[in-house]
Amino acid sequence: MYRICFFCLLILSSSSANAFETAGNFWSNGQADFYAAIPGISPSGEPWQTAFERALAAWTQNTAFNFVTIDEFRDPCLGQDTAALGDRMSGAGFAETQCGSEFGENVLAITLSTLTCANVDCTGPAEITETDIIFNDTLQWDIYDGPLQNPVQDFERVALHELGHVLGLDHEFTSSAIMQPFAGDINTLQQDDINGANFIYNGVSQTQSIYGIPIQLPITQQIAGPQNSIQIRGTLDGSDSVLNDKPLDIYQLSFENDSLITLGMSSNVFDASLILARVDSTQQLVVGQTFQDENSGTGNDALLEQEIQAGTYWIGATIGDSGSGGSYAIDLSATTTSTAASFESFTSVYGVEVEVNPNPQIAGELNSQDSRFDNRFIDIYQFEVTSPVELRVDARSSAFDTQLFLFNVLENQEFGDVQLQNDDNGGGTNSTIQSLLQPGTYWMGVTSFFPNTTGNYDLSVSVVLP
Ligand SMILES: [Zn+2]
Repeated sequence: MYRICFFCLLILSSSSANAFETAGNFWSNGQADFYAAIPGISPSGEPWQTAFERALAAWTQNTAFNFVTIDEFRDPCLGQDTAALGDRMSGAGFAETQCGSEFGENVLAITLSTLTCANVDCTGPAEITETDIIFNDTLQWDIYDGPLQNPVQDFERVALHELGHVLGLDHEFTSSAIMQPFAGDINTLQQDDINGANFIYNGVSQTQSIYGIPIQLPITQQIAGPQNSIQIRGTLDGSDSVLNDKPLDIYQLSFENDSLITLGMSSNVFDASLILARVDSTQQLVVGQTFQDENSGTGNDALLEQEIQAGTYWIGATIGDSGSGGSYAIDLSATTTSTAASFESFTSVYGVEVEVNPNPQIAGELNSQDSRFDNRFIDIYQFEVTSPVELRVDARSSAFDTQLFLFNVLENQEFGDVQLQNDDNGGGTNSTIQSLLQPGTYWMGVTSFFPNTTGNYDLSVSVVLP
């Protein structure tokens, strides 16, 4: 076991961009018992305990992590002098020193975490077994909303920040976040903080769709077969997107192969309702490949047993007839039915095969079986654009110098606007095209800059948000 420390400084800082930071450590069951009964009353008259419990509840209610509040005081320094291994109980309180050693200059509070290493070298994520928060009692404290009133510190926002360290978050330097290293005007959990906690405990991070809907990206986004299972835990509440007046969570997964899937959604508190919808490279729904279920599972649970084509899918979790929200579980098991992914394809008038509606992420290969076009091997992918969209296409290869093309296809497969890219900046072999596409049929593809070259490549398509 070892201990780590986090500090908070007094200086104000500003914010922008996005991306939480995690310390890589975690509570094994996604929850922590916390002794919350800090004695004393703030100058404004509210007990410290009340504000501390509000901070605990904020993390519990807004993230996948759970604080279990214990209505007792536990001296955070108890056991700290015995080889610094603590007492296995997490507490918080005020002290003039950080359990014997001086607080550093400008340090508001400190969180001490006891970790159990996963291996002898203590590399990789470690399990957190105890945390203690010590607030610097040599400073002036109160509980208040609004801007920071230096030199009087707001106890509650510092508690929120330290509890972020408790559950495994590190400082966030760029985004608007309570986890910024310096106490400032932010006094509530920000989306970046919530995303960070959910990433540690739910295994999801977040992106956005062109419809403006947040899309959750599980740690495992690529289902490669032959047999996979994935569990997702989530909560539906008033902060979610809305579909038919009901809250909605969306998760994105890609199946590399045609698969037989069993997709279940269960909840103890509401009627679970599931949607599975295939999306194409431009985040448009693929016609005829949306599936829905509400009550095929046990009780009110939803269950889809479905053969699906390889591709990228959104799993939508929402509410059926009864209930207003709460926690739910999604369990997916997938079995590969065909490793030759049945992407629809046809032979173009140029004699080159065209694959229709590929995944947004393509692991491809130029090989000697491919058709040649102008003495180069070539792979072509077709997709439809139904409403204007700014699209970015990236081709990456370490095997050959990629040439990337994108064009709209007119009647009789004649080419409209053609965009070609061979990005040789710095001698690299990758290529990128970013373009605003109007509705129509498009081909994108990969070939090599030099004739007769083969090798693996990755082709990825992403929607660029305005
Ligand atoms: Zn900190």
